[in-house]
Amino acid sequence: MPTLPLQNQKALVTGANSGIGEACARALAEAGAAVVINYVTHPEAAQKIVADIAAAGGQAMAIAADVSNESQVEAMFAQMLGAWGTIDILINNAGLQDDAPFDQMTLAQWNKVIGINLTGQFLCARSAVREFLRRGVVPEVSAAAGKIVCMSSVHETIPWGGHVNYASSKGGILQLMKSMAQELAPKKIRVNSIGPGAIKTPINRSAWETPEALKSLLTLIPDGRIGLPEDIGRAAVWLASDASDYVTGQTLFVDGGMTLYPGFATGG
Ligand code: NAD
Repeated sequence: MPTLPLQNQKALVTGANSGIGEACARALAEAGAAVVINYVTHPEAAQKIVADIAAAGGQAMAIAADVSNESQVEAMFAQMLGAWGTIDILINNAGLQDDAPFDQMTLAQWNKVIGINLTGQFLCARSAVREFLRRGVVPEVSAAAGKIVCMSSVHETIPWGGHVNYASSKGGILQLMKSMAQELAPKKIRVNSIGPGAIKTPINRSAWETPEALKSLLTLIPDGRIGLPEDIGRAAVWLASDASDYVTGQTLFVDGGMTLYPGFATGG
């Protein structure tokens, strides 16, 4: 039996040189997986993570690709499969915001966020699934032929004014994830999402960098603290491991209770 939950497994984490993706990549490596650190900007940040993982005795490599670009995604998977032979785990994490009031949102802002957050997850999942189907289950490695974890958000269910492109992308991920899970379960491929609440990363700096902003944010979090990228990394390891083998088509909210309608705790 492997001593680490992801030993002998090969993982790819998109947008892995910052924030939640970085924490997932580091957590997967600690759990024994070899990890591709996908990035689109800041190669030095990706190389630092690769070096840290190698220094700790793990295996990692950095690959540049824009997840919204079909040929770049296919080239990234070809490079990974050429180097490591296969893929067992995809963490579909890359994403961004480009906010605007609804009446001022441009088509370019809409297409950019949908293209990276939603189409990017489709393109990476499709490449991963093709390899999962080709290889099938290898029982010594995992009970599944492959595992996909989609980084969604509490905004797959909580509407978010001023961010309709982002909320729509996350709502789309909900049905992308569930429909893939339904279609692919007979092939022993598991597909789940993580729905982070407010996690302290560069994407939402304005929501936590001043005491006033943080105080306002915490009114939305029953647990009373902002989440950390490591909170998500631990959930990703569990969803990628055989410990969750009977779990598919689910969103695991890691949100300190943000989806519990905190406004109703003392009202309603
Ligand atoms: P972040 O800005 O720190 O990281 C985003 C990563 O995605 C970066 O590495 C960035 O370079 C990468 N990326 C952006 N466009 C890309 C592209 N075209 N191709 C490849 N990579 C690209 O932000 P984060 O908070 O770590 O966000 C990671 C994921 O978590 C996103 O999908 C985000 O929507 C989701 N999320 C974050 C929070 C939060 O509170 N931080 C909450 C819910 C969901």
